[in-house]
Amino acid sequence: MLRSFARMGFSALALCAAGALVAPRSTRAYSVTGWSLGLDQRKVGVFDNFTDATANDNVAQHPNWPGFTGVELACWKAVTEWQSELFGDGSGDPLQSDGVGSGGANFAPAWCGSVTGIGGANGDVISELQGSGGGVHAFTEFVSSGWRIRLYSEWLWDDGPGAPVPGALDVQAVVTHEYGHALGLGHSTVAGATMASTLSGDGTGSSSI
Ligand SMILES: [Zn+2]
Repeated sequence: MLRSFARMGFSALALCAAGALVAPRSTRAYSVTGWSLGLDQRKVGVFDNFTDATANDNVAQHPNWPGFTGVELACWKAVTEWQSELFGDGSGDPLQSDGVGSGGANFAPAWCGSVTGIGGANGDVISELQGSGGGVHAFTEFVSSGWRIRLYSEWLWDDGPGAPVPGALDVQAVVTHEYGHALGLGHSTVAGATMASTLSGDGTGSSSI
């Protein structure tokens, strides 16, 4: 688990284990957990309790995601990658030459911006969790009515855009992976895939699905 990207919580643990059993026979870039996010569960919010200065040092807005900077902007970029087509004009991530939203997925999230708390397990909120996950960077909880994503404060987080500072992990990339779990995807055995269970380097390669 030292380099494990994420871990399911609560009742999702059994579903995740079931997915892991079939994953080695698959060459697809993901597996499925048995859970899927409903089309009426599109909302995404961020509770900005992130403690690293590098998680909130991007002060440049981008016209594709107006009104937000820092960790909120990084998370908003991450979830829009799961759309079926380019988000806006696709620009805004210097590490994705093919554009944000180019992966051909098919889920358009509804951005709710900043919220005031971590929410419940069905609150559809991304936030930091104080402490260590024993090598886990982040995890996604999901219940029948929604999800919650937590990033452990043990790691140094960077909001980008572009490559994180040395030693930091890319918020956008990790949230792209975790939101895949929220949508119902399990881990992939394909190295370098967004849904691969292990993080490569600073994680930025996971931003593009
Ligand atoms: Zn994961």
